Amino acid sequence: MRAAVVTKDHRVDIIDKKLRPIKFNEAKVKMEYCGVCHTDLHVKNADFGDVTGRTLGHEGIGKVIEVGSDVTTLKVGDRVSVAWFFKGCGHCEYCVNGQETFCRSAQNAGYTVDGGMAEECIVDADYAVKVPEKLDPAKASSITCAGVTTYKAIKVSHIKSGQWIAIFGMGGLGNLALQYAKNVFNAKVIAIDINDEKLAVAKKLGADEVINGKEVDVVQKVKEITGEGVQSTVITAVSKVAFNQAVDIVKAAGRVVAVGLPTDTMDLSIPRLVLDGIEVVGSLVGTREDLREAFEFGAQGAVDPIVALRPLEDINDILEEMEQGKITGRMVIDFSK
Ligand SMILES: [Zn+2]
Ligand SMILES: [Zn+2]
Repeated sequence: MRAAVVTKDHRVDIIDKKLRPIKFNEAKVKMEYCGVCHTDLHVKNADFGDVTGRTLGHEGIGKVIEVGSDVTTLKVGDRVSVAWFFKGCGHCEYCVNGQETFCRSAQNAGYTVDGGMAEECIVDADYAVKVPEKLDPAKASSITCAGVTTYKAIKVSHIKSGQWIAIFGMGGLGNLALQYAKNVFNAKVIAIDINDEKLAVAKKLGADEVINGKEVDVVQKVKEITGEGVQSTVITAVSKVAFNQAVDIVKAAGRVVAVGLPTDTMDLSIPRLVLDGIEVVGSLVGTREDLREAFEFGAQGAVDPIVALRPLEDINDILEEMEQGKITGRMVIDFSK
């Protein structure tokens, strides 16, 4: 079967790879779609360490074609996902208290184990989340990573119906964060970016206010709109400036949720932290339960990921386009092409 694997010279090769036989707790999945994520770029470039030979892909959707002898939760024909959180140890503090994505021995698809950017993929049956019947599988691929990550971040923001939330960055993550915040949590959303095209999309998707950070003073404008500031903010932008502005625009006792990953430090005034009681917290992908919920809201039509289908052969082109910032929405490998 064809698989997209990382090469020594930081490219991706399409090779013919043979899968090992599945174990008693595993299932074999025939992949239908796999989204291409910024994280794939990091993996390919060996930013997290050299993984030459690894099959990429953690936004995979496919159908089960074989199950191991002990599998009771999946059957042949089920549609399942291959997500970044591939598997936890199942018994540590984090795995049992609802924070399994922080398991210290978690495995990640397309990085520590072979992922879904191949015609077939082996999954652990207990960890492959089922995709609802009513959800378009190509769009489901986007929810498997960007969707669940932003859904979880909005959850972590503790936003309540009718409160103001500001979302920094309106790219692949931000436009989904906006949709979850608006259509699931019923929040009032301020979308912030430095690109007018992306802000126009945000407006169309229902943002109550949009701010171009290149043209106006973000902090001043947010205060004008909200009075005291926003209740919460989620930062999907990969920019230190956004993180610093986020701290400045939350009201007292507000929450700043970090999702974007600039390799930087942020300025955090201790008096601001203490006297205004603000909270700053990181949010990392989502648990199996978060993903199940994120899929369900997708199936109900509350979120509609923007996807474009591409053949597997385009993978190096897609990664290059991504590196050049040319992509809006999500590029999804279509294995039927
Ligand atoms: Zn991803
Ligand atoms: Zn664990």
